[in-house]
Amino acid sequence: MTQRSDPPTPTAKMIRLPRHITVRDLGEELSVSGIDIIKELMKRGVMASVNQTVDFENASAVAQALGWEVEAEATSIAEAAGAGEEEAEAEEDTNLQLRPPVVTVMGHVDHGKTSLLDAIRKTNVTAGEVGAITQHIGAYQVEVNGQKITFIDTPGHEAFTALRARGASVTDIVVLVVAADDSVMPQTLEAIDHAKAAKVPMIVAINKIDLPAANVDKVKQDLVQRSVVIEEFGGDIPAVPVSAKTGDGLDSLLEHILLVAEVAELKANPDREAEGVIVESEKDTNRGPLATVIVQRGTLRIGDIVVAGASYGKIKAMFDDKGGRVMEAPPATPVVLMGLNTVPRPGDPFTVARDEREAREAAEQTAREETEAGRAVTLEAVSGDIAAGRTKDLNVIIKGDTNGSVEAIRQSLERLGNQEVRLNVIHTGVGNVSESDVMLATASRAIVVGFHVKTDAGARMVAERERVDIRHYQIIYELIEEVEKAVKGLMAPVFAEIIDGHAEVRAIFRVRGGRIAGCMVTDGLVRRNSLARVMRDGEMIHESRVSSLRRFTEDVREVQNGLECGIGVEKFDTFKEGDTIEAFHTEQRG
Ligand code: GDP
Repeated sequence: MTQRSDPPTPTAKMIRLPRHITVRDLGEELSVSGIDIIKELMKRGVMASVNQTVDFENASAVAQALGWEVEAEATSIAEAAGAGEEEAEAEEDTNLQLRPPVVTVMGHVDHGKTSLLDAIRKTNVTAGEVGAITQHIGAYQVEVNGQKITFIDTPGHEAFTALRARGASVTDIVVLVVAADDSVMPQTLEAIDHAKAAKVPMIVAINKIDLPAANVDKVKQDLVQRSVVIEEFGGDIPAVPVSAKTGDGLDSLLEHILLVAEVAELKANPDREAEGVIVESEKDTNRGPLATVIVQRGTLRIGDIVVAGASYGKIKAMFDDKGGRVMEAPPATPVVLMGLNTVPRPGDPFTVARDEREAREAAEQTAREETEAGRAVTLEAVSGDIAAGRTKDLNVIIKGDTNGSVEAIRQSLERLGNQEVRLNVIHTGVGNVSESDVMLATASRAIVVGFHVKTDAGARMVAERERVDIRHYQIIYELIEEVEKAVKGLMAPVFAEIIDGHAEVRAIFRVRGGRIAGCMVTDGLVRRNSLARVMRDGEMIHESRVSSLRRFTEDVREVQNGLECGIGVEKFDTFKEGDTIEAFHTEQRG
C-alpha cells in the first residue's frame, strides 16, 4: 500500500447534474455559452433551443464531451439510501401551481351521464373542431372562462372504484347526475356511497329539467333524506338543475365545478418528471399499445421513458382528446401515449424512468409482485389490527334480502362502535353481493356481510383475487356477534407478531420508476424481505414487505439501529417525510 501526502488530483472537473436541465442552465453550469451546448447536442442528433429542457442522459453526454466528469445530483441521505447511483432526486414540490380539477360523472343508469358528458364536450368545441369530437380517449378537457376542467369520459362508479381499488385516486370532484323525472334510484345511492368512501367532494346535476315530468324539488328532498345535504338546505353540496338535451344549466354546472376546485386548491408542480394514472388502454392494430393517461404531477414529454405497472416504453407520440399531436402534457391533462411495449391496465400508476434499463427492471419487478398475493381484508386481519392498535376503523358493506333486514343490521352494527373503534357502514343494498361491492371493499378496506343473499359469480372471482372477505349469514344474531368480536379485537389471528424495529422516513427518492424512503433506523433493526408496514400519524397506511434495503450502493441484509439506509416497500411508494416503517415478523402462537 502506498502512502500519499497529497489528495489525488482530479482527472476532470466534477459536475452534478439534475434529471432535467435547460440548455441555458447547463451552459452556465459548464461555463460555456448556450450556443456551445446546442452545437454539442446537435452532434448527438438532438435539436434544442436555449430555453428547452434536456434530460440527464443528453446533458451528461454534453458535459463529458466538454471535459467534465458527471455525477447525478444527490444529497447525503440519498447516497446513504443507495439512491446516489440511481440519480436520485429528493421529492420536493416547491413550485406548486394551480392545476385543473379532474371530474368523474356518476349516477343511476339512464339518468343522462353519457349525454351530459357529450353535451359539455360539445359546448366547448369550435366549429373547426367538430369533426374531431368523435374521438373517445377516456378523458377530455374543456375550457371555461380561461380555466380548464378535465372530465373522465367513462361515467359510473364501477370505473371510478375500479381505479381506486388499484390504488389510483385520480378524481377530485364527483358530479352526481340525478334525473329530475326519476329522482334518487338504487345506483344513485351506490354512487353517493362510493363518492363518500373516497372522500371526494360532490356536485349534484339534476338532469332532464326539460321534461314535463321533471320535479326538481322532489329530487332535492330525496337527496337530503339520504344525507346529501345540498346548499339550499344548509349543506355544502351544490345542486344545479340542467338539461343535457337543451344545454340549459351547463354553464352554471361548469362554474360550480370551478368554484369547488378553487376551494379545494388543487395544485401540482409542473417542473418535474411526470407521474399519473392510466385511465384507459387498448391495442391498436397499426399503432400498437395505446394508453390514455392523466398526468397528476410534473410534465410528460415526448421521448420520456414511462413505466406503467408491468409495461414500459419510450413515448414515440402523444395525442390530445381531439386526436391532435402534442409535445408535452402538464398536470391534469389527459393524453394518449404511443410507445409502450404492452397494454397497461387502467388504474396502473405511471412514472418516468431515467433509461430503458431502469424502466424494464421496474416493470419486471411489478410483474413479479403482481403474481404474489396482496394484503387480505378479512375480519380476522382487521380484528388483529384493532387489537394491535393499528387501526380504529372497521368498514362494513351490508347486502341483504330486504330493506328491513339491511336497516336492522345497519343499526345493530353501528351500535357496536365504541371509543376505540369506529364502525363505518360505508354501503348498504338489497340484492346479491356484486362485483361493484367487492371493488368498493377493496378500495376502502372493508369487509362484506351478506344476509340471506348470495355472491355473484363475477364478484366471487374478484373477491378471491383481491382477497376480500365476504361473509354470509342466515341469522342476524350470529352476524352481529362475529362483528362484535372483531371490534373487540378478539378475532386476532393465531399468529403473534414480533416487532423487529422502526425506521423513520427522512427523505424520499425516486429510483427505477418507483420511490424509496431514505431512512434512519431508530430502534431495533430492519431486515431485507421483512414484513413491514408504513405508519403515518399513528395509523397504518400500508402493509407488505421490505422489497429493497440498501446502504450506499450495496444491497444489504439488515440495517441496525442508528444507521441510515434506503428502504423500498412492496407495492407502495407514496412515502411522506415523517412516516415510520415498522419491520416485523410473525410466529405461530403456543
Ligand atoms: P346514462 O345511462 O346515465 O349514461 O344515460 P344516457 O346519457 O345514455 O341517457 C339516457 C336517456 O336519457 C337517453 O335516451 C337520453 O337521450 C336521455 N336524456 C339524457 N339527458 C336528457 C335530458 O336532459 N333531457 C331529456 N329529455 N332526455 C335526456
